Amino acid sequence: MKYKIPRGTFDILPKDSASWQYVTSIFRKTASSYGYQEITTPIFEQSDLFERSSGESSDVVQKEMYRFEDRKGRSFALRPEGTAPVVRSYVENNLGVLSPRTKLYYIGPMFRYDRPQAGRYRQFYQYGIEFIGSDHPYYDAEVIALEMEFLKALGLQKFHLEINSVGCKSCSVDYETALKEYFRPHLPELCGDCQTRFEQKPRRLLDCKVPSCRQFRVQAPSQIDFLDAGCKEHFSSVQQYLQQMKIEYRINPAIVRGLDYYTNTAFEFIFEGLGAQNTLAGGGRYNYLIEQIGGKPTPAIGFAGGFERLLLALEEEGVALPVETKPTAYLICAGEAALAFAMPMLRDLRAAGIWVDYNADKTSFKAQMKASDQSGARFAIIIGEDELQEGFVTLKNLQSGEQLRLAPADLSGVLLKD
Ligand code: AMP
Repeated sequence: MKYKIPRGTFDILPKDSASWQYVTSIFRKTASSYGYQEITTPIFEQSDLFERSSGESSDVVQKEMYRFEDRKGRSFALRPEGTAPVVRSYVENNLGVLSPRTKLYYIGPMFRYDRPQAGRYRQFYQYGIEFIGSDHPYYDAEVIALEMEFLKALGLQKFHLEINSVGCKSCSVDYETALKEYFRPHLPELCGDCQTRFEQKPRRLLDCKVPSCRQFRVQAPSQIDFLDAGCKEHFSSVQQYLQQMKIEYRINPAIVRGLDYYTNTAFEFIFEGLGAQNTLAGGGRYNYLIEQIGGKPTPAIGFAGGFERLLLALEEEGVALPVETKPTAYLICAGEAALAFAMPMLRDLRAAGIWVDYNADKTSFKAQMKASDQSGARFAIIIGEDELQEGFVTLKNLQSGEQLRLAPADLSGVLLKD
């Protein structure tokens, strides 16, 4: 019996782990510099949390959620997204009392029963931030700036930012009426899901992934033309702050986001070249969500991005991440006596954080030399007869061939400097 990994999931293999760690570390660093602290919530929650927050009719709840019952018949779901759990924790732990403006970030796996393809998986890793506690448009711009900073810090260039405003409850009414008027004559041409959306959530007609439905987006009425005075002002302030930070953006009225809780600012970071799955990150303001799941009405804004697409984008753009994939040094010993001499040194070098490899199965000097070349190490630490007798080590630069005679105690200093 051969086991196979579940469809739509993947192993992060050792050769790729360093890149994952690097990318997550840069996200943590960027989020910290904007004053965000990490929050970690369970990977499953009461399924009702997502039904209530995302909306019963959303694709996530209807088609994509991994729901299960525990032994007592309670209904849980593997989290399909990170915002609702973070907000649940914010409300449950009264985090807003500790700091009226709460800045949280998270990293972790999400689960959606989706059709797997490049950049779309059933278990995928998201990073995200949630800013809770102010409706000031400055924070919309700050949240956007954080993601921009993160992508730039990784060295990514071929991407752009698209923004929109989806208004508030009051300006949605006229807009949805206009949308329905626009779509009504096209109803027979729309997919089955869109026919339901037409009645329940006309705004989602703009979010459909089916190509024959997507063609109608271009001519559809724009929410921006239906914003009330307050929402208009908010949107123009966000743009002003972005301009002040010299952050370029495009306005895309078709960004509606898939979930029910978004208000005002919505945005996406698009990579120019990932095929259909080109949204690196997306988010927006969600002023109604906190009250929707039992907290006091509190304005908030956040975004989430996917690490898989980010790594694909970095690869496609040819960005070389500064990760160690090869050992710094390779130890070559002529026999057991040389190894005994090397052992304390090997331990000290590793304690100093230097990656040193040694192959105990290769006994001949020649075989060890060959293995050191194959390892891709930058240096060989050689302990032969002469070295053993006189108590020194030879450090050979495997690229230039240059050799240094060193006291064992000086080795780590030289390797760390290089
Ligand atoms: P969403 O939560 O749908 O707004 O998605 C935010 C980001 O998460 C997207 O821009 C993607 O980078 C990533 N993402 C969402 N769904 C998937 C998926 N099924 N597989 C891989 N990444 C995903």
